[in-house]
Amino acid sequence: MPTSPSPGKPADERIRCPHDAAYMEKISAGRVTLDHCARCGRVWCDPYELAVASADRKTADTVDYGTAGHDYDNTMHNPGQLHCPRDGAPLIKVPDPRQPHVIIDICRTCGGVLLDAGELKDLSELTLAERLKGLFKK
Ligand SMILES: [Zn+2]
Ligand SMILES: [Zn+2]
Repeated sequence: MPTSPSPGKPADERIRCPHDAAYMEKISAGRVTLDHCARCGRVWCDPYELAVASADRKTADTVDYGTAGHDYDNTMHNPGQLHCPRDGAPLIKVPDPRQPHVIIDICRTCGGVLLDAGELKDLSELTLAERLKGLFKK
């Protein structure tokens, strides 16, 4: 469902976690605000947020993994198709070429990226933004 920003009226900007539908809370991480799910630890990055976050390694260190993050076993869950919290487009799973254990869910419509708990930290150690740019070019 498209949302049109109406001037003067602050919209509820919270989005729901594509994984478990919990409301994601805005968290301040360095110079950006990310959407963080406290239930599963996933983080939703809009493209501009990602670019800034990946350029600042400190950002990843400030993101906590959520209450279930550390012992969260992804193999125990098979939620099926995830959808973009912004536009409802199906998220596409893309394995990271350099770190095959990292599967990134990306939205080709808006360029948003859903990161599992810990992925942001993993990826931030490399030039995430540049590599994602490559993924979208395919
Ligand atoms: Zn979640
Ligand atoms: Zn999207």
